[in-house]
Amino acid sequence: MNIRLEHVHHIFMEKTPFETKALNDVTVSFEDGSFSAVIGKTGSGKSTLVQHINGLYKPNYGSLFIGDQEIHSKTKRKERKALRKKVGMVFQYPEHQLFEDTVEKDILFGPKNAGFHLDDMKKKLPELLEKVGLDESVLERSPFDLSGGQMRRTAIAGVLAMEPEVLILDEPTAGLDPEGQEAIMSLFNEWHREKRTTIIMITHQMEEVSRLAETVIVMDDGRIQMQGTPDEIFRRESEVRALELDVPERVKVLKHIEKETGMSFSSWTLSPKE
Ligand code: ADP
Repeated sequence: MNIRLEHVHHIFMEKTPFETKALNDVTVSFEDGSFSAVIGKTGSGKSTLVQHINGLYKPNYGSLFIGDQEIHSKTKRKERKALRKKVGMVFQYPEHQLFEDTVEKDILFGPKNAGFHLDDMKKKLPELLEKVGLDESVLERSPFDLSGGQMRRTAIAGVLAMEPEVLILDEPTAGLDPEGQEAIMSLFNEWHREKRTTIIMITHQMEEVSRLAETVIVMDDGRIQMQGTPDEIFRRESEVRALELDVPERVKVLKHIEKETGMSFSSWTLSPKE
């Protein structure tokens, strides 16, 4: 599904002393079937942007188009709610939202709420479990008896069960060890390869950006500061520096891009003290 935001403004607590312009004239497109990463400092507007796409927020000014549906300041909540069937969202630490007494009930909770046919969903469970790397034996267990990694996979399965046309991931690997991060990212990568779901991922892990994203969107102070392929973005040294990303992350990205493109980044100073 194609997604386009046109001159979207989102202002929290407008016309009060606490007014914050979280999105300031944002125009951006996400092509059907693409895998995009949204990066930027904390507070730059990343979450506000994606929560327009899943229908939680609407613009104060401007419009967005999700497939053939337009969302603007006058769009009713009910119409925005319809997006939940098409747009799946994996929030940060999604395992914190598990609450049912069995894994099966937790996976089926979202689809049930969104009005999916439960018998069809149940038939698809074995395949889904395999895709998220869980054994069928977990279905009758309490999600709270699982390991952290298994809990996250359970929560992710609940979103993937709806086979959303658009999948939004908000730092999906936060808090996992490197092995867990790799496993979760390959799960999404595999899903994207097979289903061609449009994926929009917020992340601070630059290695994930360079390895998986086809397009990178850099946000700063509520605006789109840059947009391009990972190497186009990371070539723009001084601007990327201004993002204040961690040095170890930048080093990893550079090494990766050097390997992939044969380009040298000797102009970057990467002293360990920096
Ligand atoms: P990011 O995801 O990049 O960290 P956010 O979209 O969460 O950024 O926030 C953008 C700006 O909007 C920040 O200044 C933040 O404090 C403000 N903001 C976010 N959510 C709310 C809210 N519910 N009420 C008021 N201000 C908010």
